[in-house]
Amino acid sequence: MRQLAQVIAAQATQDGDGVKIHRLAGRGLHQRLNPFLMIDEINSDDAVDYIGGFPEHPHRGFETITYMKAGQMRHRDHMGNEGLIGPGDVQWMTAGAGVLHSEMPEQVGGLLHGFQIWLNLPAAEKMKPAAYREIVSADITQQGLSGGGLVRVIAGEVLLNQQRLRGSLPYMSTRPVLLDVQLAANETVELSFNTQHPALVYVYKGATDLIASRQLGIYTEGEVLALKADPSGTELLVLSGQPIDEPLVQYGPFVMNTAEEIEQAIGDFQNRQFVSGL
Ligand code: MN
Repeated sequence: MRQLAQVIAAQATQDGDGVKIHRLAGRGLHQRLNPFLMIDEINSDDAVDYIGGFPEHPHRGFETITYMKAGQMRHRDHMGNEGLIGPGDVQWMTAGAGVLHSEMPEQVGGLLHGFQIWLNLPAAEKMKPAAYREIVSADITQQGLSGGGLVRVIAGEVLLNQQRLRGSLPYMSTRPVLLDVQLAANETVELSFNTQHPALVYVYKGATDLIASRQLGIYTEGEVLALKADPSGTELLVLSGQPIDEPLVQYGPFVMNTAEEIEQAIGDFQNRQFVSGL
């Protein structure tokens, strides 16, 4: 069984044009989240908290995964991709050598709830061409539980009651697993995946018997992740992947291996080199 090793609270902060978020990231967490870099949650029904969105900005050296629960976000990038993602949809973007994009709410009121997760790339793939894909909610593998809960498999492969469920994203070298799990009051579930790698559990609604809302539980490697909702039920994300054993240097939206590569990224962005040849 996987053991709960640590619980960390997400921090309230702002990013983009004044968007209020809860975040798990930072130097102190790099080794614990590895190969993930950041987990952000937007969850507000007050437009003032999100209306500014995330105007055009660059990324280099990793991948971004956006998962919507409520409301809509519009993505536009320098490659000409444009996508509107809504409840249950996923956008998976490989920044690789560089992306310039904007991510803006497609609404002027109402609830906006979603996640952005940053997933690191190994050195050999940091400068690969940028790529963009969307998965609509109807194409995401999901399985109901006998107690009323639901498991959605966004990425990776998971064993649930002797049944193997596969996400629709293609193979990636960090072998990411990303699940959205809903459990009814006191419901339990046992999940098996990536048994050689630690697992992260981010509770975004209700609580488990061990982890409160807006807390991240870090579980050891092991055959089985056992989760139990508290009497109010819970909704949570499960993340796991193969850690990258390389030096990491981050400067805002650039995540590379050395300070020289960060300087190169800043220079390329200032010279608009991100978009040349693409
Ligand atoms: Mn972005």
